[in-house]
This record gives sequence, structure tokens and C-alpha cells, in this order.
Amino acid sequence: MLSRRLKGLKAYKTETTSAPVRLSSNELPFEPPESLKKSVTSRIKSLNPSLYPDPNCTELKEVLSEFLGVPPENMMLGNGSDELIYYLSAVAGEPSEGVLVTEPTFPMYGISAQVMGRPVVSTLLDKGFDIDLPSCLESVNAGAVSLSYFAYPNNPTGNLYSRDRIQKIRDEGVFTVIDEAYYHYSGESFMDEALKRSDTVVLRSLSKIGMAGLRIGVLIGAKEVVSELEKVRLPFNITLPSQVMAVVMLTEGRDFIEESIEKVIKERERLSREMAGIEGVQVFPSRANFILFKTLFDASLLHGEILKGGVLVRDVSYMPLLEGCLRVSVGKPEENDRFLEALNGAMKSLQ
Ligand SMILES: *Cc1c(COP(=O)(O)O)cnc(C)c1O
Repeated sequence: MLSRRLKGLKAYKTETTSAPVRLSSNELPFEPPESLKKSVTSRIKSLNPSLYPDPNCTELKEVLSEFLGVPPENMMLGNGSDELIYYLSAVAGEPSEGVLVTEPTFPMYGISAQVMGRPVVSTLLDKGFDIDLPSCLESVNAGAVSLSYFAYPNNPTGNLYSRDRIQKIRDEGVFTVIDEAYYHYSGESFMDEALKRSDTVVLRSLSKIGMAGLRIGVLIGAKEVVSELEKVRLPFNITLPSQVMAVVMLTEGRDFIEESIEKVIKERERLSREMAGIEGVQVFPSRANFILFKTLFDASLLHGEILKGGVLVRDVSYMPLLEGCLRVSVGKPEENDRFLEALNGAMKSLQ
């Protein structure tokens, strides 16, 4: 029989609706230049699919080491950060010990903990979407919490939590995961602490910088932490084409990636400004590649109206504290223009 745990579990919600402009998954909107695409495909052509991939991802780790500024022995790779989150929920702390999740946030933290049968201790963020420290400390002290996840910046709110609040929770003896999936858009990191301490790890991902299809996540931690966690990693978790494509993208494609990130940050600032200029739209400040916004209209109605204008965004209003909120990913300039037009039109039609 399947576990009773499944009864309380909801599958991760993905957005599959089709639309001319998709600004719903926080992907990099720019396509690699032709020359880069050619390099990638020519490397793929010479692969032999009958062979297992390198279980240690030696070449990819060397390239990542250069890209992230971390020695290879401080990294563990996962099939997306999602896989690393599963591993952490399995072995950071004991199965009976609670996992602290501050909501609204990335749903995988809670889902993975539930799958492992661990109690999920959920606290709400405060009005500024920062960590509510007293309420977290109370939960930690009452609930035998041994693991906590913080998305930094947070998805879907887009802000960075106060560093010292994270540190104070960790100082209560809680193993702390800092999920820096949007690091390249914020520039803020806990990497130094992760390299030195045995109670802190950082997650990075290639998904938000042009390689979501490759499914590569990176855990960064002290050598001793990484070598223990490596014991639970599935041996061939990064496929052969992913290893090869990521190496090409991070070497020959490095300028493309870095220029794309800069363009997204510029567009984020412009888009925020222009959205804030639309009457009835409240825009929350973002340090990521997406923007959370709120109106007084019903979110699913507004979502539908924006879709009629050809643009798909994410309805996040089902999450706590986010009534009336939608999230839009920063796209190419022309996609953002189309979104602004669709939002404008939607606001007028609902009036
Ligand atoms: C998108 C995202 C990730 C990335 O997950 P992958 O499995 O690496 O694609 C991780 N954490 C957060 C908070 C995200 O928004």
C-alpha cells in the first residue's frame, strides 16, 4: 500500500497553460546566439548514449568551480536544486525532527519534508515579507526544529530577508539552508559562512540563468558536510547531455550569460517603475528576476484578463499573505512592453 503521508500531500503546481508570451517560470528570456547553439549541438552529436555519465561530474565541477569561485570539493551537484532539497530533508536532522518553513515561499521545502514524513513547522512572514523572528524562535524552541530553509531572495516575494534574523534562528542549533537560486540577480550571499560552518549550506542553480532545461543545482558547503551528504546522492544524477551542455554554456557562453543577467536587472528596474505607474497596481521591490504585484481585483480574474492580452503570469494568490497577488517574470524588453499593455488593458476592463 502507498503511505498514508500521501493523503496530505499536494503535487507541486506547475504552470502549463500556453500563451504567446510566457512570463510565469522565471526562466532567462534570452536565446543563446547561433554560434553558441552550434557549439552545444556539435558537442552533443559526438556523445555515445550507451555509456553512463561521469558520476563525479569532474569536468563540470571544474568549470563550476571557476564560475562560482568555490573549490570542487565544496560542491555537490543535484538534478536541479529540487533534488538537493529532497536530500537535505532526508538527512539534515532526524526523521522525527521538524522542518521550519517561512511562508509564503518556494513550495518544495514543505513538500520534501512531508514526503520524508517530517513535521513541517510553518510560520508566516511579517508585513514587509521579512522573517518574523519572535514567531520563528518560538516555533524552534517549542517544536524540536532541526532544519530550516530560507530562499534568499525569496520566491515569490522577491525580497532578501534580514541576515541577522537567519543567523539568530541558526544559532538555536538549526541546520540552515540558504537557497540562492536568484543570487545572480541579487548579488547577496551566505557562501562565506557555508564554506566555514557545519550548520549552513548554500544552494545555487543554473535554472534561472539560462539552463533550466539542464536541471543542474549546486550545494555549497564545508568539505566535511559535502562528503557526508554525498553518501545519499544517486550515482548518475546528472545526465550526460546536461553535463556536456552546461560545460559549453559556462565556458563559451559565459559572456552571453553575464550580459543577459545585466539586461534582466535593467529591465526589472524599468518594469517595476512602469508597473507602479499604473493606477491600482502595487509593486513590491524585487532583488530577483521576477516581480510580485497586487491589485484590489480578484487575482484569478486579473490573471485571465492578462492572458487575454497574450501574456501568461503566475497566480500566487493561493499562498498565505498573498491575496490579490500575481508574479511576473522579467522578460525581453518587447515581452515586458506587451505585458505592460496587457496589464493596463486588464485593469481598465475590470474597472
Ligand atoms: C526556481 C527555484 C529553484 C530552482 O530549482 P531547480 O530545481 O534548480 O530548477 C530553487 N529555489 C527557488 C526558491 C526557486 O525559485
